[in-house]
Amino acid sequence: MSLSRVSERRVHVRAPGKVNVFFEVGQVQPDGYHDVASVYQAVSMHEDVWATISDDFTIAVTGDVDVSGVPLDDRNLAVRAARLVARELGWDGGVHLEVHKGVPVAGGMGGGSADAAAALVAVNELLDGRLSTAELHALGAQLGADVPFALRGGTAVGTGRGDELAPALVRGRFDWVFVTHVEGLSTPEAYAGLDALRAEADIAPARGVPAVDPAVLHALRGADPTALAAATRNDLQEVAVRRRPELGALLDEGVGLGALAGLVSGSGPTVAFLASDERSAADLARSLGDRGHAATAAHGPVAGARILTID
Ligand code: ATP
Repeated sequence: MSLSRVSERRVHVRAPGKVNVFFEVGQVQPDGYHDVASVYQAVSMHEDVWATISDDFTIAVTGDVDVSGVPLDDRNLAVRAARLVARELGWDGGVHLEVHKGVPVAGGMGGGSADAAAALVAVNELLDGRLSTAELHALGAQLGADVPFALRGGTAVGTGRGDELAPALVRGRFDWVFVTHVEGLSTPEAYAGLDALRAEADIAPARGVPAVDPAVLHALRGADPTALAAATRNDLQEVAVRRRPELGALLDEGVGLGALAGLVSGSGPTVAFLASDERSAADLARSLGDRGHAATAAHGPVAGARILTID
């Protein structure tokens, strides 16, 4: 590919973090994986990625959040995404990525997947944009189950391993407050903890095939946060709260301060509170902030990875 045609460009792409509005985990499969039924919503806490041509594949990471846990080598999902697109397009140079993170790292909000989605779109555009959306989705799926959702955005039902996505119909907007915590469980730890609890018959056993509660979809279609609050559920929450009792205390505190519901996002440790409207979310974020929590108001659904500027 001719370097001169593309070498000066700087492509800026934004991709959203997500909240799991509903997350049901099925029984562990012989290969160790679990089937899940999930409803994801893309929210207005996002990642910004800028891509420029370089000799090698490099990355610099800054953020509104603590970015000390982010790898700066080939373990970084955004670097892997850039390499995948470059290889697919036959580009033998490199790409430099600048990432500005607005999604808490390792918080259960899919920040790394959002970086990967943004990098896929940015590098495709940087190198003349010949890959279709479907091709980018296929590459994203190789990087992780949440990457196709970060490309797509909106609200979606995920089944299988969470990577078979179907859009969910949503009216209106839903207002959230996210509280970040420093320490959580890794996703494998959370699943293993759930299997152990179920084996002890400590909590209700998994049903055969996980399925989304129709009440969740109904509430989303009806723009009804109160109904959504009643229907929302996360099977990993029990494990997260048992291992980190302070998460349970925080959930109670948020509900005490007026949240319609509180739930652990994914395997945590970020806690998501659903509010009735934008103003209630702002008030709740302020009250939680006054009590020493790192709270941010955000809303969903928002768009998936999209190009903002090409300089
Ligand atoms: P998920 O909800 O998809 O399970 P998460 O939101 O809990 O993910 P991420 O911030 O996406 O967590 O990243 C989890 C781990 O992945 C990090 O601790 C880090 O080691 C690694 N990682 C790889 N690439 C990235 C990236 N671009 N940003 C952040 N972490 C990354």
